[in-house]
This record gives sequence, C-alpha cells and structure tokens, in this order.
Amino acid sequence: VTSTNSLESYHSELKRTTSPQHGLIGACQKIVALDKKKRADSEHVAYEFRTKKISAIGIDDEILDEIHKFPFPVQQMLINEFCAVEGRIEKGKAAPGLTSLNCNCLFFHRYLLPCRHIFHENMYGTMKLLIPDVWKKFQQMFDESGFEIYIHRELVDLEVPVFKMTEAEKAMENRRLAVSELTERIRDIYWRVEERGDKKKTGAFISELKNRLEPVLNIPI
Ligand SMILES: [Zn+2]
Repeated sequence: VTSTNSLESYHSELKRTTSPQHGLIGACQKIVALDKKKRADSEHVAYEFRTKKISAIGIDDEILDEIHKFPFPVQQMLINEFCAVEGRIEKGKAAPGLTSLNCNCLFFHRYLLPCRHIFHENMYGTMKLLIPDVWKKFQQMFDESGFEIYIHRELVDLEVPVFKMTEAEKAMENRRLAVSELTERIRDIYWRVEERGDKKKTGAFISELKNRLEPVLNIPI
C-alpha cells in the first residue's frame, strides 16, 4: 500500500535506511569526523592556493618570482602563456608591438592577466611592459577576493597606462596595431594549414594568399 502521507513515508524511509546498531551518537560521531576531514581538506586546498609555488625551468628568475606571488592555479596559467612565447618565435612571429598593457586576445580579456603577447613584447619588443608596479597591480587583483574578481569583473580597472599618448599618437597606434593584428592572423592561418601536413593544400593556400594580396601590395603610394 503506497501511503499518500509524505511525512509517513519519510519516517518509513528513515527506519529502512538507519541501522539499529549505529545508534544516534555513533551516527553523529561519524558526521563530525567527516566534517573535520572535509574542513582539513578545504583548509589544505586554501593553503596551497595561497602558498604553493610552481616549479619551472628556463624561466627568468625575476619573472618567476613575480609569477610566484599569484595564487597557484594562476601561476600555472601564467607559465603556460610565458612558454607560448617560444612557440610564437619559432613560428616567426615578431613582438606584437604593444605599447600599453592591453591586448585584444581572448586570454587577456578573459583573465586580465599578462598574456603571451605581453610577455613577448616585454622580452623582445621595444616596451618593457612588466615593471614591478605593474606586476603588483596584477597580483593585487587576487588579494582580497581571490577568483571572485572574475565574477565582479566590471569593477576591475587595471589603470596601468604605460605612458600618456596624444590623440594623434593613439590614432596612429591603433592603425599600427590593426596592421600587426592582420599580419598575425595571416601567420596563424598559415600555420593552421601547414600543421595539417598536406603540402599540396599548403601550397594552394600560399598561392591563393599571393593572388589576393597582389593588388594590395601593388597599391601606388
Ligand atoms: Zn594577448
């Protein structure tokens, strides 16, 4: 007979699932022990989050020191971006020519952290973007609220202009960035085709690119 009384069925469920051997105190002790373990686990995680340091070889001590001041998961993300610079160089990409701490890439927009382009510029470009004050600003983002920064990200304002530009300089800078972005996109798509390993397709891609660019490259100036 199925009971329509929900309280009655709750009680019968309780009777069915609790063993008389456990007793109430035993059950409570079990819960307390579990709770303690849970708390210890989460304290451990929180401790590691704040203090664990990533080990990485081949990274400039100065940069690694700064990376170590971030929460552990962020350290891993930064190391990935840093190491991606090597891949950029192997692919013949030049320093992106950033003049301020602002990049159009997805990583920078999503995490507000130094991306591969900022690292590349910092190491090989003309602008030394990652000065100690700048690192401090990035690190401080996590000081108070940890990852909540990404939940309330509209409140974040990095305010780290490297230098003040006039309107004309800004306009020129934007034009220069637009061109550098286009060349970078061409290189990206070339590598995507090249890495598929089909010589014929890569060759076809290059001649297509040549044909399309020809009119632009022959514009009378
Ligand atoms: Zn970027």
